[in-house]
Amino acid sequence: MIKIAKKENCTGCHGCYNVCPKKCIDMNFDEEGFLYPSVDSNKCVECGLCEKVCPIMHIVEVENEPIAIGCYNKDEKIRMESSSGGIFTLISELVIQSGGVVFGAEFDENYNVRHSYVDNIQDLHKFRGSKYVQSTIGNSYYDAKQFLEQGRQVLFSGTPCQIAGLKRYLQKDYDNLICQDIVCHGVPSIYVWEHYKNFIANGRRISSVKFRDKSTGWKTYSLQIDFDDGSSYKDIGNENSYIKGFVKDFYLRPSCYECKYKTLHRESDITLADFWGIEANVPELDDNKGTSLIFINSDKGRLCFEKIGKSIVFKIINIENAVTFNPSSHKPAIMTKKRDTFYKEYRNKNLNLLVDELLKQNTIHKLYNYISYLKIKIKNIL
Ligand SMILES: Cc1cc2nc3c(=O)[nH]c(=O)nc-3n(C[C@H](O)[C@H](O)[C@H](O)COP(=O)(O)OP(=O)(O)OC[C@H]3O[C@@H](n4cnc5c(N)ncnc54)[C@H](O)[C@@H]3O)c2cc1C
Repeated sequence: MIKIAKKENCTGCHGCYNVCPKKCIDMNFDEEGFLYPSVDSNKCVECGLCEKVCPIMHIVEVENEPIAIGCYNKDEKIRMESSSGGIFTLISELVIQSGGVVFGAEFDENYNVRHSYVDNIQDLHKFRGSKYVQSTIGNSYYDAKQFLEQGRQVLFSGTPCQIAGLKRYLQKDYDNLICQDIVCHGVPSIYVWEHYKNFIANGRRISSVKFRDKSTGWKTYSLQIDFDDGSSYKDIGNENSYIKGFVKDFYLRPSCYECKYKTLHRESDITLADFWGIEANVPELDDNKGTSLIFINSDKGRLCFEKIGKSIVFKIINIENAVTFNPSSHKPAIMTKKRDTFYKEYRNKNLNLLVDELLKQNTIHKLYNYISYLKIKIKNIL
């Protein structure tokens, strides 16, 4: 029966849930709004498979030499619908054109986020765009394995911990599997997202959510929520309380504060990120429409990159410079005491006011960013 030494290490990957031959593991919400496995001990036959597939009980050390590339999709429409440079869609198209299947994160009918799969290009729009809430894996690992066993190519896209979960669940390498992860700041609580969207909706029915609307620019993106009655809500990301609380780590999953997967040596074949700090690194790729920073982590990743080469504008860059402004690529989020205060109060208080009360501008952080920017600028001039 699965027993993770510290509950807060569990990433909620659903590997144990997918593998259990007796279907005796359920994923249940804790009080903070994150899913954890719970085992029906009456049905459990102690086969040990759940522990065998747990990625946290079996951390993999990867040794590779990732290559960092700044790039964007030449198709402007796709790029504008995507969070950064629209690279996810290009890789997905390759896989679908070869008869394959793509797994990614979509909104369900209540605008919660779940993993699912598509096998046609028209449906890829469901996965486009970052959704800043933890995506529920459900049966996706099991489904992916069925497609892999049938010999179909599978692209599995997710957070690094979801990719680690999939790989451990599969227990063997498949030539027809491509894993693409994201640089992940951390995943917010499903309860907090529900609470926030219901507060904004105020009884209206949501018809669309964009966490990264680029009509106000890529760097100054907006959170936009549209409603059935034709009205909409729009707020610049760095002024929006939900985004601010997310970025300041008030309601991330506990495992995100000790994330083992924020490293430059990743299990995925290809990693996608926003190219924050692009002005200092490759200003010629910056038109404020979104540029991706990608890491090629394996031969499969390199092959994908070669195949999309004609459809993108790109430049290979020094990885250490590239990640200076993207700490999420290699450092876990920072646990803050304000998280406890947030959780004690958020249900009884206006979330906007609460986040603003908890936020004090961190001037040291701002100064650090400015100095890093100057250092790279000077290095480039020299
Ligand atoms: C929760 C979260 C935190 C992130 N934090 C950072 C960060 O700190 N720094 C950074 O540079 N980039 C971060 N990103 C990644 C970045 O925002 C873009 O997703 C990435 O650059 C890909 O952009 P794209 O334009 O190529 O594709 P897009 O079309 O934007 O593709 C989106 C991809 O992300 C996947 N996705 C969307 N939401 C989720 C989710 N909730 N869980 C799992 N997968 C999801 C989709 O399945 C799809 O594969 C984060 C993304 C998410 C979802």
